[in-house]
Amino acid sequence: MSITTSFDVNRIRQDFPILSQTIRGRPMVFLDSAASAQKPRAVIDAMVGAMETQYANVHRGLHWMSERTTEAYEACRDAVATLMNARDRSEIVFTNNITGSINLMAHSYGRGILKPGQAVVISGMEHHSNIVPWQLLRDSHAIELRVVPITNYGELDMEAFEDLLRDGKVGLVSITHMSNVLGTVTPAERIVRVAHKYGAKVMFDGAQAIVHRKVDVQALDCDFYAWTGHKLYGPTGIGVLWGRKELLEQMPPFMGGGDMISSVTYEKSTWAQVPHKFEAGTPAILEGIGLKAAIDYVQGIGYDALAAHEAALTEHALARLSTIKGLTIIGQAQDRGGVISFAMDGAHAHDVATLLDRQGIAVRAGHHCAEPLMQRLNLDSTARASFGVYTTHEEVDALATGLERVRSFFK
Ligand SMILES: *Cc1c(COP(=O)(O)O)cnc(C)c1O
Repeated sequence: MSITTSFDVNRIRQDFPILSQTIRGRPMVFLDSAASAQKPRAVIDAMVGAMETQYANVHRGLHWMSERTTEAYEACRDAVATLMNARDRSEIVFTNNITGSINLMAHSYGRGILKPGQAVVISGMEHHSNIVPWQLLRDSHAIELRVVPITNYGELDMEAFEDLLRDGKVGLVSITHMSNVLGTVTPAERIVRVAHKYGAKVMFDGAQAIVHRKVDVQALDCDFYAWTGHKLYGPTGIGVLWGRKELLEQMPPFMGGGDMISSVTYEKSTWAQVPHKFEAGTPAILEGIGLKAAIDYVQGIGYDALAAHEAALTEHALARLSTIKGLTIIGQAQDRGGVISFAMDGAHAHDVATLLDRQGIAVRAGHHCAEPLMQRLNLDSTARASFGVYTTHEEVDALATGLERVRSFFK
């Protein structure tokens, strides 16, 4: 298994201070990046540096420090627009995480644009954050919620998807671009083509996908795309909603407050232009500065190298794990990213994770915020290993050896 020569994972690891630690006397094997990724020195330095030398509130001060801070914060919007190939920087709305982005959509698009009687389509492999906001909308606004079933391989049933759209009632499709449980990458271009044929708009949950591959919203031709900063090596507290400008302009605001208005009287307030209409209150200034550094870091490595590294790791992991007796890999999608769920015969996922942790190996165990998917799989939980730019083949080997050891306890 060879990795592209320009990509040196050991050099990359030196960019992440946290990785040099030992846990329980062993080198730390961190295989939980899909829950939140570790941060490179560049992100840490950008945030600390801003606090030490360049910090004030943004968008309001007429003084030097506020102007510099506004420039540094707004540079993040430019970086996100370039990263996603948005037509215009004003199409980038900052939220607090993708959960915030989807709640914004359920309020502003769901209550403001969709009409009672229309439907929203999600899929059978969504994270709770792309289920619950739509349920709240369904219950308060008479919007129907439809769910695309998944196949036994853990892929979307695309025929069933088209059937759900045929009556023309669907106003919005909101589907994950990559499953945080199965690793499945969904056929985004095809989803958009089919949805648009029946007049539905499309939003993707890109929380996992944007970490693993280049996302080009113009090439995808989707209408909205949301993701969260902390999984792309950035800080917590900042998320992104990209939307087509003409759609964002039609949508009413979600939260009201400072920064999102043009004028306020007791009788009536008017809204600022997009994206500020959706950004009430003091934003996550330091987090925006940190996210800009994270995007620069990812762009510096390049998505080609990043994707090749993760594809090689995933292939290696699937090969190694499939030799372990009694271990089942959950989800066999053709197109998949570096997230692998598994179950061990006779052992609860929490016990597997605890016994791996004793060996210094961090994986996640539980329902992964996807309880309906677990029900579909007839499982109450899985253990999950997920990879980042800093993950090595040796760590995958350590996982396999660790799982062999766990198995010997339960035999
Ligand atoms: C992590 C995750 C989310 C939620 O992200 P937050 O940062 O908690 O808002 C949503 N969808 C997917 C696919 C995820 O992996």
